[in-house]
Amino acid sequence: MKALGPFTFAYGHIYSFSLIVVIVLMMLFMSFRLFMSRRRRSYMSFSATLVFVIAQYAFLIASESSGYVSTDWGGLLSQLLPALSFIMLNFGVYRLYNPSRPKLQVVFCGMLALSVLLSFAHIAPFAGEAGSSGQTYLVRHLGLDLYVFMLLFAFYSWIPGWIGQARKYEWSLGVYTALHAVHIIAGYGFGGKQPFLSLLENALPVLYFLGLFMILFERVVELLHASYTKSITDGLTGLYNRRYFTGQVNHYVDHGVAVTILFSDIDNFKKLNDTQGHQRGDEALKHVAHIMRECCQEFGICGRYGGEEMVALITDPEADIDALAEMVRERVEQEAGVTVSIGYSSSRKGISGETLLKQADEAMYKAKTSGKNKVVRYAHGSIHVTG
Ligand code: GH3
Ligand code: MG
Ligand code: MG
Repeated sequence: MKALGPFTFAYGHIYSFSLIVVIVLMMLFMSFRLFMSRRRRSYMSFSATLVFVIAQYAFLIASESSGYVSTDWGGLLSQLLPALSFIMLNFGVYRLYNPSRPKLQVVFCGMLALSVLLSFAHIAPFAGEAGSSGQTYLVRHLGLDLYVFMLLFAFYSWIPGWIGQARKYEWSLGVYTALHAVHIIAGYGFGGKQPFLSLLENALPVLYFLGLFMILFERVVELLHASYTKSITDGLTGLYNRRYFTGQVNHYVDHGVAVTILFSDIDNFKKLNDTQGHQRGDEALKHVAHIMRECCQEFGICGRYGGEEMVALITDPEADIDALAEMVRERVEQEAGVTVSIGYSSSRKGISGETLLKQADEAMYKAKTSGKNKVVRYAHGSIHVTG
């Protein structure tokens, strides 16, 4: 047995279980951290599931080393606890991405209850009366073993469509399927004494928990990324918010980079809201934002400065600003059902980011007062109408 490495020698189980406990402890740390920062019940129940898994492995380590596992109750628990953990972990992964629904709670409790019921075959009187020891093993294990296959099938067809990491999740279920198949072949075919199968039986659970660790880790990264994105963007248009945009303007200007600010404001927007409703107004805002982004993203960044004021910071020295601003104006007029007035100003030595924004705003104001739906350039104290 030793030839196959550390996972098969007499204490192979203990090796594997201890590794799993370490992995699950790290998951518990992440999950609890998520709960503390977000206060969602699903993170609390996932943490509770992980505590349960740790307790399960602590029990398995203790009962393996004490021989308790070969008693009726020990056998029952050593088959039941992994099945319960498996159900709880899969629901936990589902709930990392979805809110819980009462109907699901019923299914969840039903699945757990059925596992408990099936595990009672271990202590049922008829189990002891079965002929050979092979038959006794069959009577005790078959129900729950087949049930786990059904669970695998159910999770495989249900959960991947509802979560963000379907591939990884399917992979983890694949590992669990292999583990369960090995467990069955070893149990029914070899009475658990085939060295290569024992190696797999000890190594696959470690792989399974590593897969779950990766899923949780990715989820934490996704959530961090989402909350950062939310903190710097405007929810309606998806453009950068004013605070982030102004920060970027100051950053470039303070570092002496030659930049230009485009300042656009939708014309007669209040009238549109009043006559066609707020929803139509929101659609127009999104449409204008979309056009701004399409036109400017090659040359810089776009932001929403105020209600219907959108801005662009052009950092590319090659950009033809006149043509760019005119393209935005023209596309908005043709595609969005509204018009915009645009002012712009380019940075010069000694001008702060704040002044630059003010100049672009002033140029926009000039576009408003000279007829709207036009582009006005701010140039060295004088204002130049270009469109
Ligand atoms: P002007 O041509 O001079 O720019 O006139 P205006 O009507 O566009 O400008 P005004 O500043 O009088 O009105 C802006 C309107 O924008 C008022 C406000 O209700 C509306 N608004 C601001 N934010 C939103 C929003 O998020 N959604 C919608 N639908 N309307 C908004
Ligand atoms: Mg306006
Ligand atoms: Mg305005």
